[in-house]
Amino acid sequence: MAAIRTTCPYCGVGCGVAATVTGEREVTIKGDAAHPANGGRLCSKGTNLGETVRLTGRLLHPMIGDRRAGWDEALDLVARRFAETIAEHGPESVAFYGSGQLLTEDYYAFNKLMKGYIGAANIDTNSRLCMASAVAAHIRAFGEDAVPASYDDLDEADLIVLVGSNTAWCHPIVWQRIEAARAARGTKLVVIDPRRTETAEGADLHLPLRPGSDVALFTGLLAHLHAIDALDQTFLSDHVAVPTGFWDRLSDDPAATARLCDVTQADLSAFYTLFAATPRTVTLFSMGVNQSVQGTDKANAIINCHLATGRIGKPGAAPFSLTGQPNAMGGREVGGLANTLAAHMDFSAPNVDRVARFWGSDRVADRPGLKAVDMFRAVAEGRIKAIWIAGTNPAVSMPDAGRVRAALAKCPFVVVSDVIADTDTTRFAHIRLPAAAWSEKNGTVTNSERRISRQRPFFPLPGEARPDWWIVAEVARRMGHGAAFAWETPAAIFREHAALTAFENGGQRKLDLSDWADLSDADYDALEPVRWGGARLFADGRFPTADGRARLLEIVQSPLDRHNGILNTGRYRDQWHTMTRTGLSPRLSQHRREPLLEIHPEDALANGLREGDLARVTTPQGTSLFRVAVTDAQRRHEYFVPMHWTDRMSSGGRTGLLTDDAVDPVSGQPGFKLTAATVEKV
Ligand code: SF4
Repeated sequence: MAAIRTTCPYCGVGCGVAATVTGEREVTIKGDAAHPANGGRLCSKGTNLGETVRLTGRLLHPMIGDRRAGWDEALDLVARRFAETIAEHGPESVAFYGSGQLLTEDYYAFNKLMKGYIGAANIDTNSRLCMASAVAAHIRAFGEDAVPASYDDLDEADLIVLVGSNTAWCHPIVWQRIEAARAARGTKLVVIDPRRTETAEGADLHLPLRPGSDVALFTGLLAHLHAIDALDQTFLSDHVAVPTGFWDRLSDDPAATARLCDVTQADLSAFYTLFAATPRTVTLFSMGVNQSVQGTDKANAIINCHLATGRIGKPGAAPFSLTGQPNAMGGREVGGLANTLAAHMDFSAPNVDRVARFWGSDRVADRPGLKAVDMFRAVAEGRIKAIWIAGTNPAVSMPDAGRVRAALAKCPFVVVSDVIADTDTTRFAHIRLPAAAWSEKNGTVTNSERRISRQRPFFPLPGEARPDWWIVAEVARRMGHGAAFAWETPAAIFREHAALTAFENGGQRKLDLSDWADLSDADYDALEPVRWGGARLFADGRFPTADGRARLLEIVQSPLDRHNGILNTGRYRDQWHTMTRTGLSPRLSQHRREPLLEIHPEDALANGLREGDLARVTTPQGTSLFRVAVTDAQRRHEYFVPMHWTDRMSSGGRTGLLTDDAVDPVSGQPGFKLTAATVEKV
């Protein structure tokens, strides 16, 4: 049987996969050599996808409580309960919470139903936990959530700066590309991260900065570039709006910055000198920047340095947000977040009017909805009375997950559409709807560099599983909106999405998929990976703001609280999210068999902890046990734990119960990387 070309369902690198079916639910996985994102390479997670596609633990039939139901009965009940709740309490009494695992077509259907026909904007996703700060920063600086760069820029950079990113583990194929550039052209690598990760180990320079001090570091860089006359004054005067008196308020004081960031002045100066001397610089940033209560400011502090030096829209020169999930970008493109309307449009009156005419609805939401943390708070407070959770596990992955569990436990109506029958979240569901899994799904995803790729099915739908977009359309039809959801194929949804991006756009927004608005079903099936906007945006120096200029933003470092201990969280190389898929792979379990508390040797000594001991981690939110790993890769008084383990697999390692749910005031993204914590020997 010929290989089916599809796309990896894990990280935002968006690698092409060639899947050859060898038996019933048996498949051989290889990298797709023709896919530009990976050229045939796969990391360990992609390579072992074949171990995750069996039907173990699958949800195969609609379930009402513990009773198996038919699709009609389940869909009728979902539609009736949502309609009754809306009729009694208004459209803002219901919510959808989705996932960066959803395909663009699924996202589009959810977004259209909530914002276009229910008439509220209470749709948010786990992408809020991942890259909402990058979205907000792009909009503030560029006027649109548009990623300027592409992977090509990594090949052409002379300096790559990685900020808050363990790329070697979390985006391994991008890491390989960086390593190739270093070998081929001597590209320098600077890693800015409190932890000495595997990524930092290989860098030319590692700045193990104090957690949360990134704004000071990059604002200090900007001041230094100004002081040594290393700005691109022509680019600034032609293409950037600069607040009056902006430069006068910057102070070039590397000694003070080094003290605040807790790095040596020699290292800080080495970074500043390298950045100043290297026009072809790409600054990649990821969760260490985004998952912060000052995440948007951090991203804008980075973007400021690129705008001020004209390092954007040029080969090998850009700020570049690495997305965590396979389709966080596609979700952003359809507008599947509570603070965007659709197709990179906000809730301005002209946009609401435009989308209303396109969708043919007179009830399009005219203001932002509740972002993830606020959404679950609203559930807890009884303001949200019906919620539909799709393809994600917030009872584990949300910050202060104990509070989310309590909220779901008392929510009058919880629907979960998922692949897995028993997750920590499905335990709160009144209705479970069996969704199609990777290997069965048919649609598109967009990776970190704006490249749209097809996910193609290579197994038939098992049991009664159905695509998410189909489930949404059936509920919409039962709520009386059938004509607007009468798609028969994902290709029809993709065409509608593409047409909406182009509808009365007139070049206002960079996102314009008009080239694909008339794609035939056959051409959609055969669609090759394609990058909208080309290799890089803003090459002409024009930005999608009212005056065509980008914005330099005034940003001030927030005070850094003094905690005796700080808990940092993140990923392991071979696990993904809450392990509902990677946990099925024996090979992937070899890398880290259990969740470890990484702690500096002196902190371990001070707390009477030795390698392999059990330690209790306590935060204001909760407590959990972890096995101790002593390592000087951690800074003093800072601990690291992984995010993946759940109630289903372990009584310890419950990171979600520990994390603070404080959020960035602009993006609403939680600050997963910094929670006050204590550790003690059990
Ligand atoms: Fe999949 Fe990301 Fe690994 Fe590529 S780098 S194979 S997209 S997990």
